[in-house]
Amino acid sequence: MAEKRAAEPAFRAAIDLERLKGRLTALAEIGADPSGQGVHRLSFSAADMEARRWIRREMEGIGLKTRIDAVGNVIGRWEVGDGPAVLLGSHLDSVPHGGAFDGALGVVAALECVEALMDHGIEPAAPVEVIGTSEEEGRFGGMLGAQAMAGVVPESWFLTTADDQGVKLVDAMRQAGLDPDAYRSARRDPAEVKAFLELHIEQGPVLDRAARPVGIVEGISGVFNWVVVMTGAANHAGTTPMELRNDAFRGLADFAAAVPEILAEQGTPASRLTVGKVDLEPNFPHTVPGRAEFSIVGRDMDEAVMTALAGACRTALAAAAERNGLILEISEISWLGPTPCDGDIVAAFARQAAALGLAPPLMPSGAGHDTQIMAQLTRAGMIFVASAGGVSHAPDEHSDWPDIEAGTNLLLHTLLDVARHGLRGDERLPGMSDD
Ligand SMILES: [Zn+2]
Repeated sequence: MAEKRAAEPAFRAAIDLERLKGRLTALAEIGADPSGQGVHRLSFSAADMEARRWIRREMEGIGLKTRIDAVGNVIGRWEVGDGPAVLLGSHLDSVPHGGAFDGALGVVAALECVEALMDHGIEPAAPVEVIGTSEEEGRFGGMLGAQAMAGVVPESWFLTTADDQGVKLVDAMRQAGLDPDAYRSARRDPAEVKAFLELHIEQGPVLDRAARPVGIVEGISGVFNWVVVMTGAANHAGTTPMELRNDAFRGLADFAAAVPEILAEQGTPASRLTVGKVDLEPNFPHTVPGRAEFSIVGRDMDEAVMTALAGACRTALAAAAERNGLILEISEISWLGPTPCDGDIVAAFARQAAALGLAPPLMPSGAGHDTQIMAQLTRAGMIFVASAGGVSHAPDEHSDWPDIEAGTNLLLHTLLDVARHGLRGDERLPGMSDD
């Protein structure tokens, strides 16, 4: 009956939380700041490469066939079932002085899913690959590992980009023992990949506030990025009467005050509008500001909403400039449309979550993730595990172990589900669970 059980397990497989905890703790020690200031594992640094070799040994320890591709992605393949492979993973690099969970959790959770299935004698219907991606966090711009697998690396960026110390990406890769000239070899054949599933911490407060362990990501928000300059006249703050000023800061402040109204009229619950960077000139207490340069970053899950938000921002900026006698310039730095997660993957996560007694909300991701790039290669989807206090990219980033256990079990059962089903074209997944 072993074969029957492999196809349709009669019991519910579960992950080993202690083993996962042990791995995550060990991984957090690689690149740990000696003064206790978090995990400092910048892409292609010595610590980052050590983490890659470490996870590769862990993969080999459970019998996976491993390799590190030209751009540093670590890949461990479990040769079971047949047809294209289901890919599971996240990134291994960190931001400066980041936390132990961002990215790393998704890699050790993926490995734990595989080992737990091996323990239970359950073989998925398709090959499985555990992947630790490279340069996601953006030392050089971000998402390099996923872009290389999807075959969408912008070549001019790849060859010229450098970090904030002026170190070029290609030089950092060579220093790390990788071969930047061979980056195209990391590209995956879409015919050999069935799906990509990512578990990641939420990095925000929504799940924690709602006391939910896990959420299913409906998609990654689109984002537009502007630089706005308002120019007035710098003048003496004591001698220039209030009504005779062309105060650039007041223009900026008028716009910022209009943001809640813009969102109320044009936004959705997934909308975000942020003025995050401001430069005032001359930036002196006794001088009326003559020039304000500031960023506006807008996000939503719907491109039409993004367009409406952008239009309302233009109107509000023009009104603020007019009211304060300022010259207005708006430059769009980038506009990136939203990436919806694959509907069948979302359905599979929801089906398995219901079978596990979880009630995960469907939510947008305001942050960028490998999943949005992998969606250009294959059917991609992701889940979030609650972040305690919503803290992330900081040393005290943390997720509770029971929440991690729930999320990893959801990943495991969705892996079995997705491996078993066709996921082709318009074929809908039948409403079945794996027990
Ligand atoms: Zn991350």
